[in-house]
Formats: sequence, C-alpha cells, structure tokens
Amino acid sequence: MASMDTSDPFDVVALTQALIARPSVTPRDEGAMDVVQRALEDLGFRCTRLRFGEIENLYARRGNISPNLCFAGHTDVVPTGVRNLWRYDPFGAEIHDGAVIGRGAVDMKGGIAAWIAAVAKTGDVAGSLSFLITGDEEGDATDGTCRVVDWLREQGEIIDHCVVGEPSSSARLGDMIKVGRRGSINAAFTVTGKQGHVAYPQRALNPLPVLVDLLEALKGRVLDDGFEQFPPSNLEITTIDTGNTATNIIPQSATARVNIRFNPAHTGARLQAWMEGLAADFAARSGARIECTARISGEAFLTEAGPFVDLVAEVIQARLGLQTDRSTTGGTSDARFIRALCPVVEFGLVGQTMHQINECAPVADLRALTNAYSALIEAYFSKFGSTS
Ligand SMILES: [Zn+2]
Repeated sequence: MASMDTSDPFDVVALTQALIARPSVTPRDEGAMDVVQRALEDLGFRCTRLRFGEIENLYARRGNISPNLCFAGHTDVVPTGVRNLWRYDPFGAEIHDGAVIGRGAVDMKGGIAAWIAAVAKTGDVAGSLSFLITGDEEGDATDGTCRVVDWLREQGEIIDHCVVGEPSSSARLGDMIKVGRRGSINAAFTVTGKQGHVAYPQRALNPLPVLVDLLEALKGRVLDDGFEQFPPSNLEITTIDTGNTATNIIPQSATARVNIRFNPAHTGARLQAWMEGLAADFAARSGARIECTARISGEAFLTEAGPFVDLVAEVIQARLGLQTDRSTTGGTSDARFIRALCPVVEFGLVGQTMHQINECAPVADLRALTNAYSALIEAYFSKFGSTS
C-alpha cells in the first residue's frame, strides 16, 4: 500500500480511502456519512443530518449570503458483485499502480473527497458553499435527494447553482460534462384472456395475440426525431412472459414490460396516459382484460446553455486543457431532482470502471479533479459572487 500525505487532514486520497473503507452498499451507511460530516464540520460547515426511512442524508452550509454554490453527491455504492473476482479487497481502499481501488472509488466517493479537498484549499468566498449528500442514489432514490430537495424548499433554503460530482468524464478527466438527462418510465402490461385447449380456440381467449398487437402499436409510434442536444426518445420491450410450459394449452394471461428513455419533448405523465389509453383500446377491441402499470423514475431535463455551463467548460479548458463535450447521455442521476431548484451540471471523474469489478480512481485524476474543482469555486465566485 503506497503512502499518502498524512500532514493534510483534507488530502483527497486519504479522504477517498476513508470513504471507501465504509462499506455503504445502499441502503446501509456504515459510518460513511460521518466521515463527510466530520470533515465538513472541521471546515466550518453547519451540518444538518436528515434521516428519511433508513437512509442517511446530509445538508451542510458555510456562509449566510448568496449566491449559494452547492455540491451534490452520494455516499452509497452498488454491491461488489462476485467478491473473489476482485484483485484487492473492494473495501480495502488500497493503492496499486497509481490508483485507489475499491467500490465507490469513481462513483462517487472520489468526487466527494475531491470537492471537500478543493474547499479546504480555497480561501473565503463571496457567498456560500453547501453540500447535499445522500445515501440513496443507487437504490430506489425515494428517501434521498428528492426528499432533501422537498426539505430545502420547506426551509426556504436557496441554492443558486449546483455541481453534481458523478463520474461524467468518458475517457479523459474533463472530456465530458452532463447538462441534462433523459427521462425514464417503466410500464408493465398484463393481458388476461381465458385459458383453454389449443384444439378448441373458440372456447378460449388467447392473450398472446392481443399482447403482440399491443406491443406492435407501442413500438410503431415514432416518439420524436430528437430534441436539441438529445437523441430521439426510444421505447424498448424488455421482457415478454407467459410461463406456459405446455404445448396444448392456450395460456390464461401474459405480461410484457417496456422501458422508455425520453427527451424533453415528453413528460412521464403524458407517456403514461398514452400507454394506458392504448391498453384500454386494445382491451375494448379484444375482450381481454389489460392491466397497465407505469412508474416514472425520472423526467427529462436540460440545463440551458448559459453563464454557469460556460463557466464550467472554461475552467475545464484552462485547467485540464480540453474542450469538454456538453452531453445528455447516460442513465438517470440525482441531478433530475436538483434541477427543480437551480441550474445543475454534472462534472466528475472518468466513469469507465463505475459499477465494475476492480473499480478504481487514478491518484493523478483525484488530484487534478481537486485542482479543477478549486479553480471552479474561485471562478464561480468571481463571476457570480456577492459584491456587498
Ligand atoms: Zn453515482
């Protein structure tokens, strides 16, 4: 295990290691939030712990004046997967070949550590700094950021801009930031007919042709041709099940599930209403019963081009020497909830090993990200900071 800088209590590598050593697989916390809180208290932040259900959340702020620049992230991690496939202990936080190895190294304990280290090395700012840290991003996300956002609203707490420390970079640190995300909706269709003998179809009602026609209608609609920086919305059929093992039975019922990834041309509610309407049409036409249940897991959003996004891109250009790609790709993230409060940009480590066996964060990247974050904080307050 390589040595680290023990003279600096806010060293990014030491903080990353301290966080990885807490096996905080959603919904467990295992003391990970305490590591964050202790560091922030030492840096003069007022910390409020928010426990919703079994989830630990934290809001911390330093300063009383606006603007308030918030950093958002999550301390929870996905499971390790097959543990003996890891070359090193996934919670050992060992350094090998110049990288910190462990679950959460890039997604996103390293990002949290980098922003804390950046705050520690940045002087006073003309405004406020805050942290919104949750323990429920990788799970259902029901007791995490969305509840903290509600709480912030109730408190009248204003956040002016937010950086989410998700591993947004693609191949090199800073080559990509996320300025929006597609929305996602899951729906299940269960068609119930009447079971019978295949030789006597007139005595049965086969749900499968009804389901096939319904799926064809769902797939047949061109949702859109894309939207600003987004690709076209897409519906995928993810499974079709009847569980019928017999060759001489018309089954009683069949279920299919679909997922739609959609751009801001749609809302989850409108897509849900469309699917429910289609199910009702096919039920009326076929005589079968069709149940449609849909769950919206996130709405699409786009942080419009403007001074905040430009600032992040300028800092990346100046500090990391590359022109960043302003992307809307990838799955959903907690930025979808924070978007309701203020402009939000995701900027963090290279995501290549996220959720994988042997997840790791190069030490050089952790240090470079800390420097870039520090430069971003300084540039932010010189551009937007209070002059009073
Ligand atoms: Zn993440």
